[in-house]
Amino acid sequence: MEHDHVREVDPDVADALEGEIDRQRETLSMIASENHVSRAVLDAQGSALTNKYAEGYPGKRYYGGCRYADEVEQLAIDRAKELFGAEHVNVQPHSGTQANQAVYFAVLEPGDRILSLDLTHGGHLSHGHPANFTGQLYEVEQYEVDTETGYIDYEGLADLAAEFDPDVIVSGYSAYPREVEWERIQEVAESVDAYHLADIAHITGLVAADVHASPVGVADFVTGSTHKTIRAGRGGIVMTSDEHADDVDSAVFPGGQGGPLMHNVAGKAVGFKEALEPEFEAYAERTVANARALGERLSEHGFSLVSGGTDNHLVLVDLRESHPETSGGDAEEALEEAGIVCNANTVPGETRSAFDPSGIRAGTPALTTRGFDEDDLRTVADLIARVIDAPDDEGVKSEVREEVADLCAANPLYE
Ligand SMILES: *Cc1c(COP(=O)(O)O)cnc(C)c1O
Repeated sequence: MEHDHVREVDPDVADALEGEIDRQRETLSMIASENHVSRAVLDAQGSALTNKYAEGYPGKRYYGGCRYADEVEQLAIDRAKELFGAEHVNVQPHSGTQANQAVYFAVLEPGDRILSLDLTHGGHLSHGHPANFTGQLYEVEQYEVDTETGYIDYEGLADLAAEFDPDVIVSGYSAYPREVEWERIQEVAESVDAYHLADIAHITGLVAADVHASPVGVADFVTGSTHKTIRAGRGGIVMTSDEHADDVDSAVFPGGQGGPLMHNVAGKAVGFKEALEPEFEAYAERTVANARALGERLSEHGFSLVSGGTDNHLVLVDLRESHPETSGGDAEEALEEAGIVCNANTVPGETRSAFDPSGIRAGTPALTTRGFDEDDLRTVADLIARVIDAPDDEGVKSEVREEVADLCAANPLYE
């Protein structure tokens, strides 16, 4: 990738940018929330729309010169509506967290109540963690997954809801390998007269491609990230019904943001166009099949998977039984030295700490974009097992690094 203009002005940053692209090319990107966008999306995000102020919405801006900004934003909105079947879409949130913030701001007063999944069970900071604004502005109660099965404890959720009387119930998770039953959570929300926010950040692409059930038309609000499985570049979206459209729009702007990042909105428009093509559905199906192949092979190697497997794009490995001496942090570090990048993650019933938890989370969205198939993922599982079985063995890590290099060469990125 050329960064000639950057290099002329700033060789230090140019070196880092080139280092990053080489890093992505030469390692296996298995962080479940990451992906590789197309060159078209990169190009759109690097466009001159970064210069444009477009506070407001298409046709109703607070600035002149918005003709092309309007065109781009309207395309992003129309395509998202088509992809998700949503009545109303706001494509301006700077990220998934800002999308959630907008929903809370639209329907909650400070001191109101949020019921969400515990972070160590797969929830997200923006669902009420004490270190996040949500944990400080709102009263938060948390439901859990059943630590035996690894599945959401829907009955426990219903009991907690009856007891806590939340104003919003949040579903949608960061480290949950199973299909979410949106209707069951919607029923609970209705039974206690709470709104239901379904945060599909991780699975936006899977929902768009219909390989995961959609909460659109079920939950009151659906938020998503646009840079994860959907590959539309960094950002967020909110979807809702016409009923809540104005409240959401004014909660995004001026409620929580100033001018939209129009270059990112352009990335979303292009990425959504790509996601409407039949190839995207095939991509999403392969992503899930690849995760299943990865999980099955890891199980054969003796690893314990939370919930016993996966329905989506990620696996969550609990190392406590198979590798009691190895923390998630140790595993993450050894794998990275071998060219496999994933992240340490808490597991349900965590007995270590959030900083050095007992699990690792690994996803297939980025590898699938590069062309990896199920056989490749079985090979990757073999490599992961070799490293975690001997995390301090430099010889093993260097052998694995060479095999990783071969896999990368066979599945090139940004040629
Ligand atoms: C990734 C994620 C988000 C959004 O994160 P941003 O980094 O703010 O885009 C929101 N919710 C969940 C459940 C996530 O996994």
